[in-house]
Amino acid sequence: MDNFFETKKINNEDTSLHTQFNNLKDNYEAIFVEAAESIRKEINQFKPEYPCKDCKIKDCNIEKKDVFTMYPANCEYRNWQLKILTYLSGDYRQKLKLIYKKIMDKKSEYSCSKCAACCKLAVSEYSYAQLKQRAMKGDKFSSDFVSVFVPYESEEEARKANPEYFKLLNELVEDEKIYYYYCPKLKDNLCSEYEKRPDICKEFPHNPLKLLPSSCSYNAWKNEIAHEAMLLKAKVDIIDFYKEKLQ
Ligand code: SF4
Ligand code: SF4
Repeated sequence: MDNFFETKKINNEDTSLHTQFNNLKDNYEAIFVEAAESIRKEINQFKPEYPCKDCKIKDCNIEKKDVFTMYPANCEYRNWQLKILTYLSGDYRQKLKLIYKKIMDKKSEYSCSKCAACCKLAVSEYSYAQLKQRAMKGDKFSSDFVSVFVPYESEEEARKANPEYFKLLNELVEDEKIYYYYCPKLKDNLCSEYEKRPDICKEFPHNPLKLLPSSCSYNAWKNEIAHEAMLLKAKVDIIDFYKEKLQ
């Protein structure tokens, strides 16, 4: 499989987060087109051939017959749209789930180099109070998160923890507010409660598209599966779009 981060020529020394991020952005358009084309092929397998020939619907003057056209009930093209909806929500979604599982399983071929960057700077779209509320409502991720992480006193403190990562995270979210956290259980760069650490620590990184600190050894995993992960993300976005349009 192509290494996604190498589809545009990258100088071997230039593996900075900025380069990776820019490369990712540059490639997303091509990947989106690839995903759209692949879905188009999938849904065309249900497309009826010459259905208008025997159609009993009167006064139909639809000229452009594509997948997003509005068709009357009982029109074969409408039946096609309904089949697409069933397929995308059922079998096709299952296929995507399997791809996601394969991507995440691949992570086990890599291991944590214990750089501690993820313990020193974690981000969330939620404030500490919001995370606690979510935890009280039963959200497991939030519950794990607040069991170890506490908020930085200021953005400056967070920036000092990892200036490169901090800067890029800020650029990524642009105008959205994000909150910065650290884990006080980290002592001398080691987890003082390693055996008791929660699942969010054991399973980090949780998302193949998450931006990782440059010192994280899972960047190698991310690079290996980047093309597949981006393609998957594009497919998920596209099928959501189809579902909205074809309901
Ligand atoms: S509990 Fe341990 S592994 Fe988890 S964030 Fe804290 S120091 Fe890191
Ligand atoms: S940032 Fe990556 S390599 Fe470093 S401690 Fe966390 S999971 Fe391990």
